Amino acid sequence: MGAGGTAGRRSLIRRLVRWPVRIAMFAAITIGVAGVAALWTPPAPAAPDRPGALAIVDVTIVDPRQGGHLSPHQTVLVDGARIALVDARDRVPIPAGAQVVDGRGRYLIPGLWDAHVHTLRLSPQLHLPLFVAWGVTAVRDMGDACSWSTDLDCVPSAPAWRAAIDAGTIVGPRIVEAVSFHVETVPEASQELAALVAGLRQRGEPFVKAQLDDDAAPASFQSLVRAAGASGLAVAGHVPFAVDLADPALALRSVEHDRSLLPQCSSARLAYTGRVATMQTLLAGLDEPRCARVLENLVRHDTAYVPTHVASSGQDAAHAIGTPPAPDALALVVAPHRWLWAVARRAGRLDGEAQQTVQAVHRAALALTARAHAAGVVVLAGTDALDPDVVHGLALHDELALLVRAGLTPADALQAATAGPARHAGLAHERGAIAAGLVADLVLLAANPLEDIAHTRRIEAVIAAGRVYDGPRRDALLQGVRHAASSWATASRLLRGLWWDTP
Ligand SMILES: [Zn+2]
Repeated sequence: MGAGGTAGRRSLIRRLVRWPVRIAMFAAITIGVAGVAALWTPPAPAAPDRPGALAIVDVTIVDPRQGGHLSPHQTVLVDGARIALVDARDRVPIPAGAQVVDGRGRYLIPGLWDAHVHTLRLSPQLHLPLFVAWGVTAVRDMGDACSWSTDLDCVPSAPAWRAAIDAGTIVGPRIVEAVSFHVETVPEASQELAALVAGLRQRGEPFVKAQLDDDAAPASFQSLVRAAGASGLAVAGHVPFAVDLADPALALRSVEHDRSLLPQCSSARLAYTGRVATMQTLLAGLDEPRCARVLENLVRHDTAYVPTHVASSGQDAAHAIGTPPAPDALALVVAPHRWLWAVARRAGRLDGEAQQTVQAVHRAALALTARAHAAGVVVLAGTDALDPDVVHGLALHDELALLVRAGLTPADALQAATAGPARHAGLAHERGAIAAGLVADLVLLAANPLEDIAHTRRIEAVIAAGRVYDGPRRDALLQGVRHAASSWATASRLLRGLWWDTP
């Protein structure tokens, strides 16, 4: 008994010693596998070659401009990356050997733009193919991996991506403009501020992206606008609540997010903190004449308004009632972001009166968008993709639906994602419409989007700078992202890069 008892104790001790060793070995192997797996991140997909010539035959062309117009029985000839000819089907000879796409019963729209997205170093695997798959052929990147850093030496992604997308070694939209720095605090010393703006200019930033705290002092925002202006750069971004956008001297390139503009229409904006507790006060203070002055000022300076309803008040409203995106949309999102989004959704969950207040703010934000559009403000469709529950590419279709819910016609919503952003970027001669000489960015739809904006989701084929993504190629893009998003290697690389950046 005694000996048996000692042996039993010994084996218990051995077992107790053995478990931590086993756990440590398991952890070491797991970390080792993760390390090796991290080297095997799925490659970004490559693009198909451009056909020698492409003919989209007998299609109905949708022009969203001037209230929307349909031209049936048209043929579009594409040569390389450009549209060569658009005319009635009988008048267009199809070149021998051309790839022919049957357009009968289908609708052709210009490629869509998303005027507010975010990217990471892993976006060629995780995000850029999704834009193309969902018909988004041009984007304005409002913050890449470098924008998380305050280091101006960080190397922006866009130049390399543009070259790789042009060459077809990765799949992605045209990155029209890309910002790699968020100004979150404005240096008080004027020399320091001037040096910051000069640094941004030297790096080739298209404008200064302001991302000050909502309660930042108006004076620091104004000094940023002045310093940028003195250096020939405009400011775009978030507007702190206390800044007065009715001030005629305040010229911005764009105002981002409905949560930035709505407070400007309230005489109670100084009492507003962005928190639910102050939302009723904000709504009670909505002031028509003040709002008219703010909108007039935006029109005066050709300041675009990018409400990003899907991420801003719309996200608050959806999170208040705890609605997650559809499972097939979430399957396109890499695991660490999916987890983070679930946490954000839970944290944003509200009950009773608070829930109704947040929904009332969303309705007021939609009404403001309709009002801004009617007042002649350039409203652009943007999503803030990368924000919780905002899936790259797919979310643009949600934003279009929200613009229509706000009161825009489907034609006007489409224009906010085609000709509108092209003109605002000074690229109307290149993009945003279907005409000879323009870049061949096109989306072929199974149904008329002017009848129902939801028809922009019924994509038969996407043509991005002349490269054709029809059924199987489009499916392959989505499948590739699903694969990369579910890969352990991608998740581990993302985690190693502290969520947003990767080595
Ligand atoms: Zn953003």
